[in-house]
Amino acid sequence: MRVTFCGTRGSTPAPGPDFYRYGGHTSCVALSHDGAGDVAPQLILDAGTGLRRLPELLGDRPFTGTMLLTHLHWDHVQGLPFFGSGDRDDARVTLLLPGDGDQTDAAALLARMMSPPFFPIGPAQLRGDWRFGLIPRGTFEAEGFTVTAIDVPHKGGRTLGFRVSDGHSSVAYIPDHCPTAFGPGPEGIGEYHEAALGLARGVDVLIHDSHLRAEEVEAEGSFGHAAAEYAVELGTKAGAGRVALFHHRPERSDAEVDRTLCRFAESPVPVIGAQEATTLSL
Ligand SMILES: [Zn+2]
Ligand SMILES: [Zn+2]
Repeated sequence: MRVTFCGTRGSTPAPGPDFYRYGGHTSCVALSHDGAGDVAPQLILDAGTGLRRLPELLGDRPFTGTMLLTHLHWDHVQGLPFFGSGDRDDARVTLLLPGDGDQTDAAALLARMMSPPFFPIGPAQLRGDWRFGLIPRGTFEAEGFTVTAIDVPHKGGRTLGFRVSDGHSSVAYIPDHCPTAFGPGPEGIGEYHEAALGLARGVDVLIHDSHLRAEEVEAEGSFGHAAAEYAVELGTKAGAGRVALFHHRPERSDAEVDRTLCRFAESPVPVIGAQEATTLSL
C-alpha cells in the first residue's frame, strides 16, 4: 500500500517557513492500494486540514472511498468542509466515526461542529453521495483494506487507534494517545498497554503521537498526548518495522523536529518524522 501524509501537525495548523519540511496541516493520512495503474487514495484516516491536499493526489477525479475518524477534536475534522475532492456531485464518501454508543447519530454528532453559526453548512449539505455512520467494533473491511479499530486513552471524547492491512503490508495509526492515563509505565512516560501493543504488533510502520518529549510529560502529559520516546519504545516492543513520529506540536519547527529525531539515531527501530506531502510505499 501507499501511505501519504497529507497533514502531520497536531492541535492547530502551523504555517510559515519554519514548518516547511514537516508541514503545517493538521492530521490526515491517505492510503492507496499499490499498483502500476490507478493509485487513487481510497481510505482516509482523519480529516484535519491536510484533507485540502487530496486534490493533488486525485487530480480531476472525485474521491470515492471511506474516511475513518479517530476522534472528533478540531485538528482531526476541520478539513471536512474544505474537502474539494469530496464536496462535488460525483463524489462517493462513506464517513465513519466513533460514537458514544450504538445509538449515536453520526451526522448529527458531526453537525455539532459543522453547522451554523459555527460554519455556513452542515455535513448533509456537502455535495455528492455522503453516508455517515459509526466505526464497527473490532475488525472490518473498508475499500479492500482490513481495519481494526481499538479504543485508546486520550482526553475529552472517545478516541480510537487503527491498524490497517492490505494483506501484504500493514500500518498502525495512533495519532492522539495518552498512555500515562494507564499509569507511568517503566520510564514514567506511560504504560505499554495491550491496546497500543496490539495495534502496533509487527506492522511495517507505526504512525504515532509524538506531541511531547519525555521531559515534557510530567507537566503536560495530562493534556492527552504521548512523548516521542514512548512512540519509539512502543514500536520497538511491538516489533514494528519503522516508527513515524506524527502529530508534531504546532510550535515545533523543522529544526526542533530534527532535534527530536537525533535522540533516536541509535534506536533499534528506524525512526522518521512524518513529513507532509510525502508517501511511504510499504
Ligand atoms: Zn490531535
Ligand atoms: Zn485529540
